[in-house]
Amino acid sequence: MYDALVIGGGPAGLQAALTLARMHRPTLLLDSGTYRNGPAQGMHNVLTNDGRHPAEFRAVVRGELAAYDDVEVRDIAADSVERLDDKTFAVGLADDSVVIARNLVLATGLRDVMPDVPGFAEAWGRSVHMCPFCDAHELSGRRLAVEEAEGAPHVVAMLSPIAASVEVVPPVTSVEMTSEGLHVASSSSRVVVDALFTHPEFEQAAPFASQLGLELNESGCVAIDSFGRTSMPGVYAAGDLAHVEDLPQPVMSVLAAAYAGQVAGSSVLSDLIAPVAQSA
Ligand SMILES: Cc1cc2nc3c(=O)[nH]c(=O)nc-3n(C[C@H](O)[C@H](O)[C@H](O)COP(=O)(O)OP(=O)(O)OC[C@H]3O[C@@H](n4cnc5c(N)ncnc54)[C@H](O)[C@@H]3O)c2cc1C
Repeated sequence: MYDALVIGGGPAGLQAALTLARMHRPTLLLDSGTYRNGPAQGMHNVLTNDGRHPAEFRAVVRGELAAYDDVEVRDIAADSVERLDDKTFAVGLADDSVVIARNLVLATGLRDVMPDVPGFAEAWGRSVHMCPFCDAHELSGRRLAVEEAEGAPHVVAMLSPIAASVEVVPPVTSVEMTSEGLHVASSSSRVVVDALFTHPEFEQAAPFASQLGLELNESGCVAIDSFGRTSMPGVYAAGDLAHVEDLPQPVMSVLAAAYAGQVAGSSVLSDLIAPVAQSA
């Protein structure tokens, strides 16, 4: 019986596990090895880690976790989550084993849904980006395009001081990376630029919020309070998959995910010790 089972080994899950490890709470972290920033060659806007490869970042944190006796990390996917009673959860793993924990921290992130646009998936994270904070600076003085959408003027305003040129293009029908740049085609135009900014749809990367019947926000992300608590006692959520009601969607950054992981880990601890603290 673990005090906490953290599902997800991105920045949110790693930080939640570190927080609990430092409080000597038996914790198991599960990681299926699929990360939202998997296609990225470097993380940016992340203090002390600006430009570091995401895999290297995770390896460093795994090394830090290894120094703590109370945390165990397993590279395996969880398949199912079930609430057995008030304070016991059973998690089925890909090898058909089952682990039991008093609390769950869901940190399974989001999956970007690649549109049915030829070339898009190959260019995603390389020449097609969504986040100016993450990727614009490296494109200083280059030719950029922004796909027409509700937030496009905002993105153009963000990119204008950085790029040599920024143009808004109609809904994209194909992209192709070539030696002269990124060919971006739409029904009425064809341009060659150095990169395209756009926002694909996203969805929950794992089925656990739905398996548990957790309350969701309009964005499709798990509804949490400021302490990372979901609508079900004993279940916490952190990172891209969840946000508080005041926000339209999660902040979607490495540091925001790590912050949320720390908050969720602290809340697990607070709720674990509450009965002891009250009777003392
Ligand atoms: C292309 C791209 C580039 C980005 N660049 C930056 C950047 O430069 N700077 C920045 O701050 N942010 C960047 N981001 C955003 C950042 O990657 C995310 O905000 C951050 O990774 C969210 O962390 P997370 O822990 O919530 O989820 P993730 O990092 O996606 O981690 C999810 C974890 O859950 C695990 N998981 C999922 N399902 C299961 C399961 N069934 N069983 C077990 N484990 C499971 C996964 O294997 C993974 O370990 C980028 C995003 C993208 C798409």
